[in-house]
Amino acid sequence: MTTTPKPLVIGNWKMNLDYVEAVHLGQQLGVMLKNKPAEHTDIVVVPPFVDIRSMTSIIESERIAMDVGAQHVSAYDNGAYTGEISTTMLKRLNVQWVLVGHSERRAMYDMTDEVVLSTLQAVVRSGLKVVLCVGEALSVREANEQNDFVTQQLKSALEGLDEKFHELVTVAYEPIWAIGTGLTASSDQVGAMTIHLRSVLAQLSLGAARVLYGGSVNGENAATLLGEGGVDGFLVGGASLKAESFMSIIQTCDDCYDVKR
Ligand code: PEP
Repeated sequence: MTTTPKPLVIGNWKMNLDYVEAVHLGQQLGVMLKNKPAEHTDIVVVPPFVDIRSMTSIIESERIAMDVGAQHVSAYDNGAYTGEISTTMLKRLNVQWVLVGHSERRAMYDMTDEVVLSTLQAVVRSGLKVVLCVGEALSVREANEQNDFVTQQLKSALEGLDEKFHELVTVAYEPIWAIGTGLTASSDQVGAMTIHLRSVLAQLSLGAARVLYGGSVNGENAATLLGEGGVDGFLVGGASLKAESFMSIIQTCDDCYDVKR
């Protein structure tokens, strides 16, 4: 028996694919997973809000072994917050995961550490699973301050979190300089950061949380990042928009898990 957690692969579609394209991709993934099931890997797709209903419908009707997540949610329960979506609304659509603190939201939508904290609290209070995204900018890495930087991001979001919510937490390390740039962090860089993240998480009594890597992951680099980087899976942007490339990352995780057991 192994205590290695099952790999987790999450596809963040960002603001790509309208609902027709989403249905098409969902159907393709469904067929591929039926032909070659990913028995040991948890899979989540995170489409734009307007695609969520279509995705949950396909997954239910085709019985695809895949969860749906949201890219964002309001920290408020309901009320006069034009343009926002609540955790209750997501749950009614069978959403199970929410990304919180993605660097694009931190940078472009004023998502401060305080907003990350209140959003994360709203997510876990509602019973949804949270993927807390952390990661440094290139200038921070060049100053060799990445460990302190992510420690502060982790602590400000997770310190004092009620123990009953711990099982809902996953952390994704996404160096900003590697997101959507084609620049992947080396397996040494990912490995060192994974050890660091796990030690901070252990201090916070969250040592069992899965740690993912995100940043230009594809079918070619996934095996090395998983094996040498020591992560529990991936948060994937660009490569999740095509069924073949997303599936190749999923299959890599599935095969690696088989070997590790
Ligand atoms: C992301 O946005 O979470 C991401 C990892 O994107 P990409 O894979 O395109 O770098």
